[in-house]
Amino acid sequence: MNSIIQLLPEQLINQIAAGEVVQRPASVIKELLENSIDAGATSIEVILKDAGKTLIQVIDNGKGMTPMDAIMSFERHTTSKIKTTQDLFNLTTLGFRGEALASISSVAQVTLLTRITDQELGTLVEIEGNKLKKNEPIICAKGSNLSVKNLFFNVPARRNFLKSNAVEIKHLLNEFIHISLCHPEIILKFTHQDQLIFDLTSTNLAGRIQQIYDGISAKDLLILNEETTAVNFYGYVGSPSIAKNARGEQFFFVNNRFVRSNYLNHAVQTAFESLIPKGHFPFFVLFIHLDPSKIDINIHPTKTEIKFDDEHSLYAILRSTIKHSLGQFNVAPILDFDRDPNLDTPYQYKNKEAEYPTIQVDSSFNPFANEKPVKSTSSFSSSSSYKKSEVQPSWESLYVGLEQIQGEEFGTSSFETEAVSSSLFDDVETEHEAGRTFQIHKKYIFSTIKSGMLVINQGRAHQRILYEEFLTNITVNKAPSQQLLFPLELFYSVNEMEMIKELQVSLEALGFVFEAINDDSLVISGIPVRATESQVSIVIDDLLNDLYQGISTDSYSLNDSIAKSLSKCLAIKTGTYLTEKEQENLVNNLFACKEPNITPFNKPTFITLSVDDLDKKFAI
Ligand code: ADP
Ligand code: MG
Repeated sequence: MNSIIQLLPEQLINQIAAGEVVQRPASVIKELLENSIDAGATSIEVILKDAGKTLIQVIDNGKGMTPMDAIMSFERHTTSKIKTTQDLFNLTTLGFRGEALASISSVAQVTLLTRITDQELGTLVEIEGNKLKKNEPIICAKGSNLSVKNLFFNVPARRNFLKSNAVEIKHLLNEFIHISLCHPEIILKFTHQDQLIFDLTSTNLAGRIQQIYDGISAKDLLILNEETTAVNFYGYVGSPSIAKNARGEQFFFVNNRFVRSNYLNHAVQTAFESLIPKGHFPFFVLFIHLDPSKIDINIHPTKTEIKFDDEHSLYAILRSTIKHSLGQFNVAPILDFDRDPNLDTPYQYKNKEAEYPTIQVDSSFNPFANEKPVKSTSSFSSSSSYKKSEVQPSWESLYVGLEQIQGEEFGTSSFETEAVSSSLFDDVETEHEAGRTFQIHKKYIFSTIKSGMLVINQGRAHQRILYEEFLTNITVNKAPSQQLLFPLELFYSVNEMEMIKELQVSLEALGFVFEAINDDSLVISGIPVRATESQVSIVIDDLLNDLYQGISTDSYSLNDSIAKSLSKCLAIKTGTYLTEKEQENLVNNLFACKEPNITPFNKPTFITLSVDDLDKKFAI
C-alpha cells in the first residue's frame, strides 16, 4: 500500500519557516542588521525602496564571507555562531538559528556581494525563491552587501497582506531605531526612496538618543545605572519636561533585545507620578541585564513579549532606581527617609585638594609577617580579618619566596621563613614554566601548585591588576594613550559635564586626550591603551554613575574611586576565552600585585584547593 505521508520539499519547508521569521519588510531589516552586527561591522547602510517592498539592501563593513560560506549561508540551519548545545547557553551573537537567510531567500530575490579581508576577489550569489541563479567571483568591497528584492514575489497572498507604505516604513524605522540604540558605537545610515533619513555617527547612548530625537538635548536626559546582584539597569530617562502625550518613545531592552512589557512600563510611569500630567508618558531607553535563566524569553526571533521570574522585585527595583535618579538630579525630592540626604551629594570634590599619597611604597607591608598587615588602624582587625588570614599567608609567602630566591643568588638571603624552607616555591615555579594553567567555563583559571591547586577568578583577578595599574598611573606615572583615527564626540548633560571637568586631570593621567570640552559634549582624540574605542563611552558613563552612586563612600579618595570604577568596567569578563599565554600573564601579573588576594571591592580573587582537600573529598 502506498504511504500518504511525504516529506515536504525543501523549498516548501523554507517557505513555511519564512512565515514565522519573515512577516514584513521590518523583519528582514532586523535579521540583516543583526547579521551585520554579528559580523563585527562598524558601519552599516540601509537602503529601501517602497517601504522595503521592492528593495531592502543592507551594506556592511563586517568580516564578510568566503565563497563557500556565501553559498552555505542560505541553507537552512547553517550558522557559524553555535556548534554545540552548550554554546546555546553562552550566546554572544544575536543570531544562532541559521534560519534567516534561508527563509528570506525562499520568499524573495536575493543578491549577495561579499568579500573577506584577506582575499582580493569577492563572491556574487543570486538566489530567487531558494533557487541558485548565479554564483561567481566578483570585485567588491570588503564586507557584505545583501539586497532583498520583491519580498513575497512568489507568495501573492502574503504580499497582498502587507500594509500601506506609511505603515510598513514605521515598522522598518522602529527596528532600525532599536538596533541603533543598542549600538550607538556603530555608524548607521538609513535611506528611503533616495532620501537620507538617518545619518548616525559613532557616539555613546546619550549622543545616539539625541541623534535620533532632534527635540531632545543632553540636559533632558537623566542617567540611570543600578547594579544589584540580580539585575543591572542602565540607560536614560527623559526629564518630565519632555514627556509626551503618546507612548512610543519608550524602550526596554532585556539582555540587548527589545522587549515590550506593560508591567515594567507601569513601574516607570509610577516613578514619574505627580511629576508629569495625566495622560503623558516619560521618555526612556533602558537596558536591563539579568541572568538569562531568570527570564522566560521565548527566543523566537519575532517575539518581543517577555516573562520574568521575579517580576515583583524587578518592578520595585526599577521604580526606586528611577525615583532615585529623578531625585539626584533635583527633579524630585528623594523620599527615602532612612538616608542622610547629605550622603546623596554625588561626589566628594570637597576633598579634592587633599592629594592622595602615592601607592608605590606601603611602609606597613612586611612580607615576612605571618599575618597580613591590615590597612585599618583597628587593633583587633588583623586577628578577625575574615578569610584573609587563611588564604593570604600561603600566597604571600609564595610571592616572598620569589624575592628570596632572587636574593639568594647574590648571597643576601638572611631570612629563613617557613615558605622558603619548604620547597613549595620551587615546584610552583617549574610547574608554571611548564605552562600548567588552564581555563574552564571561560571564567576560572586553574594553576597547579605543590600543595594542590589554585583556582583564579579571571575577572576578579584582572580587576585587581588594572586597579593597581590605574592608581599608579594617576598618582605616579602617567599612562601612555592611543590616538584615535577619528575623534569621538560624546554628549553629556550639563551636570555630567561639570563632573567630567573635575575629573579631567585624573582622566588625562590615565591616557585620555581631550580635544575639546564644551558645555554639553566632549571630543576625545586619545584613549587609554587598556580600553577600546567602543568601550570609551561605557567607561565614562559607568564612572559618572559610580561617582553618583557613591562607589567612593568606602574609597580613600576620588582617584581611588576612579581606579576602582575603571578596573571594574575594563576587566575581562566571564565568558572571555584566554589563550594559555594570556592565562599565564594574568596569573603572573596578579601575583605581582600588592594585594593579589582580593579585588578592589574586597572580594577574593582566588581560592586554593590542597591535595588534602581533594583527598578528603575522595575519602567518602
Ligand atoms: P544566523 O544569524 O542565525 O547564524 P542567518 O541565516 O542569519 O543565521 O545567517 C547564516 C550565516 O551567514 C551566519 O551564521 C553567518 O555566518 C553568515 N552571515 C550572514 N550575514 C552575514 C554578514 N552580513 N556578514 C558575514 N557573515 C554573514
Ligand atoms: Mg542571523
